[in-house]
Amino acid sequence: MCRHLAWLGRPRSLASLVLEPPSSLLVQSWAPRRQRYGTVNADGWGVGFFAPGRSGPARWRSARPLWADPSFASVAPVLDSGCVVAAVRSATVGMPLEESAVAPFTDGRWLLSHNGRVDRSVLPPVRDAESTVDSALLAALVFSRGLRALGTTVREVAAADPDARLNLLAADGTRLLATTWGDTLSALVTAEGTALASEPWDDDPAWTDVPDRHLVEVTPDGLTLTPLD
Ligand code: GLN
Repeated sequence: MCRHLAWLGRPRSLASLVLEPPSSLLVQSWAPRRQRYGTVNADGWGVGFFAPGRSGPARWRSARPLWADPSFASVAPVLDSGCVVAAVRSATVGMPLEESAVAPFTDGRWLLSHNGRVDRSVLPPVRDAESTVDSALLAALVFSRGLRALGTTVREVAAADPDARLNLLAADGTRLLATTWGDTLSALVTAEGTALASEPWDDDPAWTDVPDRHLVEVTPDGLTLTPLD
């Protein structure tokens, strides 16, 4: 369903990540190339990013489609960051349509996006979820268990709901963490930094597909893949 991306590396403008590539998140919001569930991502969008001198991330989210946010398009070329998480949303049937239901969710230093769906009734009760949307409840669970336990938490939730799709993408300013569980994810490792994205934002042959059911960790030292089952 949704499409998300993250960047860790040399600071670059939010426009260069979200708006400018030929198959950017902006384009993916109406014409995703690899989306398996849903066709357009018009139920809101969000970006979270870390800036020097701030302890936590800054966020810009909206319940509107990304293409209907001209104010963001105006400021995005002058907002630079070396650690970013962004997402465009295609709401799961029955889920609330509101800004607080849009990724990235946040807790302390962490940002987190969920591409997928989960039966809310299998999730243990959580406090401080930002919305009643399944992704916000899942984010609150992941935050409460701690990001170190991300792989374990995903396996537990998948065992409780075998139909769950659990592609998660998180960042704390110094690292990215991601899981693949039921949907696509690609990685681009360059000299300037590393991108993870639900689908490549251009046709650079250096993009590689992350296999399903894996945990991905990205630090300034590189990318590590660990099987989840
Ligand atoms: N289930 C979440 C929602 O409704 C995420 C959907 C998605 O991945 N498209 O927002």
